[in-house]
Amino acid sequence: HAKEQGRRGFRFFEMAMNANVHQQLKLQQDLRRAIECQEFTLHYQPKLVSPDGPVTGVEALLRWNKPGEGLVPPDQFLPVAERTGLIVPIGNWVIDEACRQMGAWRDAGRGDWTVAVNVSTAQLNHAGMVDTLRGALERHGIEARHLTLEVTESTAMRDAEASLAILNQVAALGVGISIDDFGTGYSSLLYLKQLPADELKIDRGFVTELACGNDDEAIVAAIIALGKTLGLKIVAEGVETVEQQELLTRLGCNALQGYLLGVPVPAAELERTLRTSAA
Ligand code: C2E
Ligand code: MG
Ligand code: MG
Ligand code: MG
Repeated sequence: HAKEQGRRGFRFFEMAMNANVHQQLKLQQDLRRAIECQEFTLHYQPKLVSPDGPVTGVEALLRWNKPGEGLVPPDQFLPVAERTGLIVPIGNWVIDEACRQMGAWRDAGRGDWTVAVNVSTAQLNHAGMVDTLRGALERHGIEARHLTLEVTESTAMRDAEASLAILNQVAALGVGISIDDFGTGYSSLLYLKQLPADELKIDRGFVTELACGNDDEAIVAAIIALGKTLGLKIVAEGVETVEQQELLTRLGCNALQGYLLGVPVPAAELERTLRTSAA
């Protein structure tokens, strides 16, 4: 009896496995088509000094305009894209498109902006990364200082030595480096000190809890002090309330990002959101 039940349990497990494998294969197929048919698009979210202050930069966030399904957020396809290596062609497109858009902004008088692109582990450790960056900058006539790579702490830590070597080449090119989701990884201070970074982004997790009278204010203050000691610009992500904004500014953040200051939107809408938030 128990054996029978065990077998049935296994059967169920097997069926669930198959369904999952099937789902992943389908997603993989869809992603290949998406690359071919250019179904990806970028939304942009500003980094601002204050709600009515100047824009210091703009972060490109990937969206998949999947036929019949609308905009698919990155967490629903990035894991598979990373496992299959499809993140490399997708990421190359992101870099090229962000540079093209930066060129348009520069020509429209936004020459003080910097566009930031997120880069995952499989991309960073891919041999062609530095050439891809150089190629995109040249193709669109963009100075390297107009481009920043956002690399999470855990991406930079994975295969730390190889990542450091590539990041040093990226920095030598003149492209900025931002440490994303800071505080969620396990980088040692020794490694952090060696990173050729320009910017540190405090993870949304700490920001969300701010102004609730807990330890997070002290943690954020410590992160800011650490970042400043290392000569980094400090950006807080996920700022949603005026209380958070005021506290983060008081604690010394150089720039803020979050729904309070502007949600991610297509390039054509960005000017409009900036105008409304300034009004
Ligand atoms: P991230 O780089 O840390 O980006 C911040 C995420 O938080 C974005 O989600 C953004 O839409 C969201 N966000 C911004 N402000 C707020 C806020 O005030 N409240 C809340 N609740 N959320 C906020 P999104 O666009 O879904 O992207 C998720 C992650 O996917 C990104 O996290 C990044 O790690 C990754 N990603 C996005 N685009 C790309 C890309 O082109 N390439 C790669 N490799 N990864 C990407
Ligand atoms: Mg980011
Ligand atoms: Mg982040
Ligand atoms: Mg994040």
